[in-house]
Amino acid sequence: MKHETRNDWVMWMRAMLLIFGLALTGAGVGCTVDDSVVRAQANDAHKQIDRAVLTDPVLNDYVAQIGRRVVMAAREAVKAGYEQDNLFREDPQWMFEDVKFHLVASDTLNAFTTGGQHVYLYTELFATSATEDEFAAVVAHEFAHIFGRHVHNGMRRQYAILGSALAAGAAGYALGGDDREQVAMMLAGGTLVGGQFVGAGFSRKDEDQADKFGFRFYVIGGWDPDRFGDFFRQMVAKGYDTSDPMASHPQLSQRVKNAERRAAEWKNERPDWQRHRQPNIVGPQRFAELRDRARKLTRSMPKDKSLEAAQLMLAAFPSCVAPTAQPSQTKARKRVAELLQDIPQ
Ligand SMILES: [Zn+2]
Repeated sequence: MKHETRNDWVMWMRAMLLIFGLALTGAGVGCTVDDSVVRAQANDAHKQIDRAVLTDPVLNDYVAQIGRRVVMAAREAVKAGYEQDNLFREDPQWMFEDVKFHLVASDTLNAFTTGGQHVYLYTELFATSATEDEFAAVVAHEFAHIFGRHVHNGMRRQYAILGSALAAGAAGYALGGDDREQVAMMLAGGTLVGGQFVGAGFSRKDEDQADKFGFRFYVIGGWDPDRFGDFFRQMVAKGYDTSDPMASHPQLSQRVKNAERRAAEWKNERPDWQRHRQPNIVGPQRFAELRDRARKLTRSMPKDKSLEAAQLMLAAFPSCVAPTAQPSQTKARKRVAELLQDIPQ
């Protein structure tokens, strides 16, 4: 009990320092979060994750080609007048120039972005994709989170929670389980830089929006409109869906329906929609070879502490493709929480 009080006190102090720091960067409670803040935070987190990035030129070249097609499609869409509410709040040019798509060695079925110039595509997700279309749909969805500035929204929500923690007089006392965890995660500091992302997934609204923007980039990028929902369809078949309509993430079956509706609308409204179609970058056989290659390379990566730390962070990140956490994710989040408790005080 005494120990817990001391930890709470330390947390309180950290919160004060953090709020003070945020005020200095102009990103305090209630304000919009600047791109520079999100990008700097994403770059910090990347230092910890970099060790899990596959260094294979063949795979990296392939993933980069998919990413490039998605980003160019987004740029083309914006030129043609497609945008979101706050796209030009700040110059979005960096989104179309600097984003890196990393294939990362991880047994967790997920993809994630920290909102700056880094997108993480997990090897388990790549190995699970039946076709290039499925994989490209996920890549487009992740880029759409950057395009929609969704990490900015998540940070704003976190600041609001931190603000209420401060207003409550002592960090965490007035907060419930999830919020309390979020505050703890956010105060991860330098030891586990990426920890601040762990407690804060994208909202349901942002996930829906990422599917909406992602679909647009995917079809303008040349892939088959009718295949956009395939990855979610596959996940439903494998039992990943939730029946809880109030779950924090959209139901997979609903995401499939939305994809079907968007594909039908896209084709109905554009008699010339075929002009966007391009052949896939690789055929089914080559895609299967690349998947095997990624699987083998993931297994043969030399294990060490820094790889372990990188993979722990990747496993702990919120789900972007599944509505509920997988056991590996829950376990990793617990471990991150334990590590935060152990930070020297
Ligand atoms: Zn997502």
